[in-house]
Amino acid sequence: MAHYLVTWEIEVDASDPTDAAAQAQEIQRDENSLATVFVVEDQDVGEAHEIDVGKRVLCRFCEKMISSSSNSTYVYKGDYVCEDCWNCRL
Ligand SMILES: [Zn+2]
Repeated sequence: MAHYLVTWEIEVDASDPTDAAAQAQEIQRDENSLATVFVVEDQDVGEAHEIDVGKRVLCRFCEKMISSSSNSTYVYKGDYVCEDCWNCRL
């Protein structure tokens, strides 16, 4: 298992810092929010990835999250399948 630093940034116009934080919290809790891009830094290797969880899809077998930006996307009967399940279940 790797260790990651996950950060999320948002710019807001607010009357004071507390209002800015409250607005950011509201945006983050909104399920329809478009602010779904996280920067995920693998601290062991120092690699950063931009992950958009708004575009996530789940594996039909294990329900593991599959990044739709991933190069290795497997589709089985119209559903997404993660690489592990693709290799061992199909
Ligand atoms: Zn799977």
